[in-house]
Amino acid sequence: KGERLRLPPWLKTEIPIGKNYNRLKNTLRDLNLHTGNLLKMSSQGYTCTRGCRFCSVKTARQPPPLDPDEPYNTAKAIAAWGLDYVVLTSVDRDDIADGGAEHFAKTVTSLKERNPHILVECLTPDFRGDLSAVEKIALSGLDVYAHNVETVRELQRYVRDPRANFDQSLTVLKHAKQVKPGVLTKTSIMLGLGESDQQIVSTLTELREAGVDCLTLGQYMQPTKRHLKVEEYIPPEKFAHWEKVGNEMGFVYTASGPLVRSSYKAGELNY
Ligand code: SF4
Repeated sequence: KGERLRLPPWLKTEIPIGKNYNRLKNTLRDLNLHTGNLLKMSSQGYTCTRGCRFCSVKTARQPPPLDPDEPYNTAKAIAAWGLDYVVLTSVDRDDIADGGAEHFAKTVTSLKERNPHILVECLTPDFRGDLSAVEKIALSGLDVYAHNVETVRELQRYVRDPRANFDQSLTVLKHAKQVKPGVLTKTSIMLGLGESDQQIVSTLTELREAGVDCLTLGQYMQPTKRHLKVEEYIPPEKFAHWEKVGNEMGFVYTASGPLVRSSYKAGELNY
């Protein structure tokens, strides 16, 4: 420990930011969505009530209130785009009674009303285990319910905010599937935080037992010096190994690679 690890060659590459991303960002700016908390691509400026040790999102006990027009404006912006697949996400809002679940659900419903063919993934908080919040979103008309366990069971306390834990997250994923079996459930794990192979295997086993359908594994990257250090840069071959393991375990979809992020190629999911 102490010294920071050198960046391995497979990570010395620019992460491509597509033209669509920029176009979409401009549309959002035009529509005044900067106060919003619901779009995957716009995490800057949003304030979370938690402080996970891997995440550089701004935190506060009492972030600004939600904009009641946001679900409608977000849906309008997305529908105008003719996208096939969209990921809606938010920070954790432990300060709001339902954690923002209603806000999520309204966005999905309004989006599906405008564009019934768009596939919608919601990447949600754990709502402190409030299953009625999970249910609201699971029944909103979405296609993929995503919630990230972030790391193996053993490293939860070290990596995530103390209000999060593995069992609570597992319950969220299980419940989403239970109330709406047709919905695909999805989770994501960062590697390189010091987890062992055995811990990865048992975590994947538990996820599969909980009925989780889709899995992504990517390299943890330290966002600033104040965040958790990278313990290990996992080589691409090892990621390929985990992809194989995921497929053998029966996940519908496993994406695993150094640059894979939780919404990586989400639109390529086959239904
Ligand atoms: Fe970041 Fe999510 Fe943790 Fe908030 S709850 S600090 S947004 S990872």
